Amino acid sequence: MTTVDDTWSELTARMRGFADLSNVNALLGWDQETYMPLRGSDARARQMATMRVIRHEMLVNPRLGELLDRAGDEPLDRPRQEMVRLLRRDRDRAVKLPPEFVRRLALAEGRGAVAWRVAREEGDFALYEPALEEIIAAKRDEADLVGLDGERYDALLDQFEPGMRVARLEPLLALLRAELSELLAAIVAAPQLEQAPFEQRLFPDAQQWDLTMRLLGDLGFDLTAGRQDRSAHPFTQTMALGDIRVTTRIDERHPLSGIYSTVHEAGHGLYEQGFEPRFEDTPLAAAPSLGLHESQSRLWENIVGRSRPFWDHYAPVMREIFPDVAADITAEQLYVACNRVQPSLIRVEADEVTYNLHILIRFELELALMRDQLEVAELPGAWGDAYERTLGLRPENDVLGVMQDIHWSHGSFGYFPTYTLGNLYSALLWDAYCKDDPAAEDHIGAGEFQHVLGWMREHVHKAGAIDQGEDLIRRVTGSGLDHAPFMQYLWAKYRTLYNLA
Ligand code: ZN
Repeated sequence: MTTVDDTWSELTARMRGFADLSNVNALLGWDQETYMPLRGSDARARQMATMRVIRHEMLVNPRLGELLDRAGDEPLDRPRQEMVRLLRRDRDRAVKLPPEFVRRLALAEGRGAVAWRVAREEGDFALYEPALEEIIAAKRDEADLVGLDGERYDALLDQFEPGMRVARLEPLLALLRAELSELLAAIVAAPQLEQAPFEQRLFPDAQQWDLTMRLLGDLGFDLTAGRQDRSAHPFTQTMALGDIRVTTRIDERHPLSGIYSTVHEAGHGLYEQGFEPRFEDTPLAAAPSLGLHESQSRLWENIVGRSRPFWDHYAPVMREIFPDVAADITAEQLYVACNRVQPSLIRVEADEVTYNLHILIRFELELALMRDQLEVAELPGAWGDAYERTLGLRPENDVLGVMQDIHWSHGSFGYFPTYTLGNLYSALLWDAYCKDDPAAEDHIGAGEFQHVLGWMREHVHKAGAIDQGEDLIRRVTGSGLDHAPFMQYLWAKYRTLYNLA
């Protein structure tokens, strides 16, 4: 006769297997973006596809189903209940996808990433189109196979933001779009902010690197349990709770780019370093959703990092680290430089006001693709129309347009909205933190980040994936998902910066 203990020791071993697989895959992905020579691309894409197929086989294994059923019949403590819930969620999705389909999708995504790179170098969408078409066909099939209650897009969104549905998200984002457009119109009509002399100067790479390393330490990122490297597109990957990797990119002409890449990824890294150690190697050592994960990176990057107190603390540091180019730099100049608002074509360079408009364009196009209202061949035109309508700009080529993001090329549909959800969650969490700590801004001005970090650790990080994303927000802030606190934050900041009425 098997006991609860037997069931749990077998389940624990299986959870460790999933964690190992996912951490090895993270290492492969990290290496691909940092040190791997380009000619390793094809082999790496295949290796990562193989890992996915193995994971799928482990999930659909009937023995896992039996163990979950048996565990579900027993009285369990809360963490174990949630482990069962999360494993079951992954398994239920996996059993709907035949193994041949999993391989087809993985290969399509591998090919897509390569085609995207080549097409960008050649500046030719036609070289990307067949691969993208194959991916979108596979994503439509995936959504149909998974077949969640609502519409097709829901099945894709649910992977990144569990429980979120288009019926909830679409009206929320429509409100946000209207209010952002109103704020943007007020800013564009106001006198524009001047450029400071330092914005024309070159900031040496080596000192910039030193500054980003110092920032990581200042913010509380444990460098004995993590490291920083460079990549074209900054990201964070976890190989173990004691091995969290962040990346940054440094540009001598734009010192703020490296600073904010590092602060953003530090936000992700701090979250991962903050999970309850006893949750390691279980599905609980994770954020409940990508939106929640992004709430931490955006809180550190934007609310903390683009604040005036942040620069009160770091302007003297800049003067010390860059004596040749920044001897005369002021906190106010840095504050203005990192908050200047300007409609632009490139999402990753966008300011806080226009950023979410870039996301809303992608959401609108993804929805149309999944609703069969838009075909791949029509994408570049639809992209240009949406940019013209939303930001008053039309890209003159597809590298500045529809081919700027890597996401679609590796099949991430339903992912973009989590960036905006992260912004909305970050404002809710910041307000809740400030209620508990009225000296929040003084701490930042003094370079004492342990207060905000301690609060996030206690209220957000430690719990891992115990709660669903919005449940966590409601438990911690007393309010559900809402765009109003984020809009209030933006208005308060930009009213002063741009002297708006
Ligand atoms: Zn992020």
